[in-house]
Amino acid sequence: MALTITSECINCDVCEPECPNQAISMGESIYVIDPAKCTECVGHFGEPQCVQVCPVECIPVDPHHVETRVQLMAKFVRLQAEAGKPVDTVEGLPGRADVAITP
Ligand code: SF4
Ligand code: SF4
Repeated sequence: MALTITSECINCDVCEPECPNQAISMGESIYVIDPAKCTECVGHFGEPQCVQVCPVECIPVDPHHVETRVQLMAKFVRLQAEAGKPVDTVEGLPGRADVAITP
């Protein structure tokens, strides 16, 4: 599922540049995550990068956007295609079409 940022956010700015999907942006008062772009870093990294760097641990999973790993991988493939980088043309990416997707 996508992740979300809680009101505990202190606007430290460190998570935004770490997101491989450009899913994090400044909202009205704190940073926010676009659930349409957050793949939990599936396809890019083994762990959510924003969670790794957040100093106040305010980025839990979003219960309103429950997704399986297969759905997250499909989102990753779509986002890559929209960015002009189809996964089957990118060497070494775990999302390559010829790599088995496990739930
Ligand atoms: S989990 Fe990954 S894709 Fe989702 S917002 Fe955090 S850094 Fe971006
Ligand atoms: S790393 Fe955490 S505290 Fe800093 S801007 Fe991101 S969500 Fe907010």
